[in-house]
Amino acid sequence: MKTFVTGFPRIGEQRELKFALERFWKGEQPFSEVEKVATELKQRHWNYQKEANIDAVSINDFSLYDTTLDTMVALGLEPKSHQDITDKTARYFAIARGDDQHRALEMTKWFNTNYHYIVPVLDETTDKEVDITKIKAEYIAAKAEGITPKVNLIGPLTFIANAKKSNGEDAPFELFEDILAKYKALLAQIATLDEKILIQIDEPVLVTDKAAELGLLIKKAYSELTSVATNVELFVITYFDHAKEATKALCTTDVAGIGLDFVYAKENKEVVKIIADAGKKLIAGVIDGRNIWISDIDAKVALLEELAQDIDKENIIVSTSCSLLHVPFTLKYEEKLDTEVKSWLAYSVEKLDELNLTAKCFFSDALSIEEQKALDANRAANQSRRTSSKIHDEAVQARIKELESLKVKRVPYETRIVKQHEKFNYPELATTTIGSFPQTPEVRKARRAFKNGEIDEESYIEQMKTFTKACVLWQDEIGLDVLVHGEFERNDMVEYFGEQLSGVAFSQNGWVQSYGSRCVKPPLIYGDVSRPEPMTVFWSSYAQSLTDKPMKGMLTGAVTILNWSFVRDDQPRSETCYQISLGIRDEIDDLQNAGIEMIQVDEAAFKEGYPLRASKRPAYEEFAVKSFWISTNVAKETTQIHTHMCYSEFNDIIRTIEEMDADVISIETARSGNVLLKVFARTGYLQEIGPGVYDIHSPRVPSTEEMVAQIKELMEVLPAKQLWINPDCGLKTRGWAEVKPSLENMVKAVKEVRAQL
Ligand code: GLN
Ligand code: ZN
Repeated sequence: MKTFVTGFPRIGEQRELKFALERFWKGEQPFSEVEKVATELKQRHWNYQKEANIDAVSINDFSLYDTTLDTMVALGLEPKSHQDITDKTARYFAIARGDDQHRALEMTKWFNTNYHYIVPVLDETTDKEVDITKIKAEYIAAKAEGITPKVNLIGPLTFIANAKKSNGEDAPFELFEDILAKYKALLAQIATLDEKILIQIDEPVLVTDKAAELGLLIKKAYSELTSVATNVELFVITYFDHAKEATKALCTTDVAGIGLDFVYAKENKEVVKIIADAGKKLIAGVIDGRNIWISDIDAKVALLEELAQDIDKENIIVSTSCSLLHVPFTLKYEEKLDTEVKSWLAYSVEKLDELNLTAKCFFSDALSIEEQKALDANRAANQSRRTSSKIHDEAVQARIKELESLKVKRVPYETRIVKQHEKFNYPELATTTIGSFPQTPEVRKARRAFKNGEIDEESYIEQMKTFTKACVLWQDEIGLDVLVHGEFERNDMVEYFGEQLSGVAFSQNGWVQSYGSRCVKPPLIYGDVSRPEPMTVFWSSYAQSLTDKPMKGMLTGAVTILNWSFVRDDQPRSETCYQISLGIRDEIDDLQNAGIEMIQVDEAAFKEGYPLRASKRPAYEEFAVKSFWISTNVAKETTQIHTHMCYSEFNDIIRTIEEMDADVISIETARSGNVLLKVFARTGYLQEIGPGVYDIHSPRVPSTEEMVAQIKELMEVLPAKQLWINPDCGLKTRGWAEVKPSLENMVKAVKEVRAQL
């Protein structure tokens, strides 16, 4: 075995699974149609891997919704709450998505990716027999395709660490013995499927700081799991960061091999020798499973040679850094991408060939003519990437060189805020919103028609002006203090800016599964980023011209643009982030010169970028904060900088938020009461705060009374003069029928509270 793929995307190269599922959910087709599509997709995916000479091809990496949910089913650990649903399929999707009578289980991010898994609740489960129906069916089907499958499972430690208890507590490790017993039963059954069986156990939790405490459990789990059956070979796979602590523990057990990520954790090199000494295989994750740039095959081979100094070549298996789930499917359908940019890309299918070629170059002396051709093409593409003027923009680089002088804070907040109050004279408990207003079918239709060339720019602008005008006048009329233009011209808060920045491309088919049937298509930041022209000044100025109240300009921050994109890997992420920051900086300057002097820089994804390991967080925080300064320190003292973050967890990042030094921050507190706000109070946070007073994720209209009560609670924690009153996020997903009464009630509530002050 020389080549290994950790996992393959399942949604289908044209999102076939998504469409089949959604038709089934709508009642437009029976479940058998979904099964048919699933069967075809699995076959196709296995064959892609077979054709690329991949030796270790996964089964059970496929899922109709989520592999953690599949693990619950396989272990017989479904939530008790859904057991009255007797139909297996109906129950599965009710756990995932809820139904008339049942709530869906919570969903959360899979480590530091944008994939969301279903969070198991482990103390109130059915405790049924383990169930290998799905695994068995896939095993048999894969064998029929001429593949020797490896069975993918989410490991017990990761499964428990990602689970909850019904009281909401994290990581129910006290259930370890019970869960381990389930895994042993599962493995025993899988062992009956064939004479010899290969099992891949994914344990990404072992790359987190938790690994240090898990030492004994790692040892116990894998000593016991490896003694279940003699015909099973167990490979424990880690990814996204280093697994140095865990590798030592795993090497004391009988696992056959250990998978380490050498793309995102060079530190893993330090433990290769330990694996060699223990006589185990190293599954060397060298092909990037999380980003879309072509590999530099020569560099990959050099890396493998370096590893081979510590471990025999025949004990190395060349692999992807993680499952290919996190990258799009195939370049085959990319017809509109610039051909040069396209030549720098590799999606899942192309990565299989890269993996194969890397292994060929590493293991054998001679290449076939075909392979040599592929290698030459790879070298040429990498060379063009190093030199292309599409990537390297001297003007941007010159600005970056001068940057050192820009990475500074504005004048002290205490000085600024006095001047801002003199200028804007807004009341205590100032009311505002987070930016977007309902994206109604008419709004979407107009944008789509313009994009498809069905209407001309003039009539598009007319329509957008009509939406904006109605929105601004209405906000004015109900008495909001600080207005927004409504963001009708924006499809998405990152895409809107990405499309106007140089160095950023958009794919046609670069879909990546986010959860269930949902996919996202992240922008591709391939080159030096600059902002050729103002991006928002037109719309903000138009909106300001309609009112005497302050109009907030709306920008997406550099860190959020970075965290929601595929970012170039030929320079540090910080460098790319600074370049984007300069673009936002120019925009802020243009806005303030155009008379827009309250400007919100949304950092909705600020927290998402945090590295898994605490030791790596300061470096992230440093560049993230600096990039916020680079963007915002161009603001005059009297220009008020707002920021918005969609979280309710600030405990561990409060000092960093403070460092960012926005004048006003709005956050998502509506669902967590004023617990969160206390963090700000306790730490002596000085700047103004808009804790969301109602939850925009629900269609419910909050009453005036309940918001009065909410505001009073907030005022018990922080003084009124430090508080803004706003919903907890943008309103784009809501309808006007909910937004109107909600905001009217919010304004009424504030008036009542002010009258009592
Ligand atoms: N200004 C954006 C909006 O209102 C912010 C969105 C977000 O925080 N996710 O839509
Ligand atoms: Zn938000």
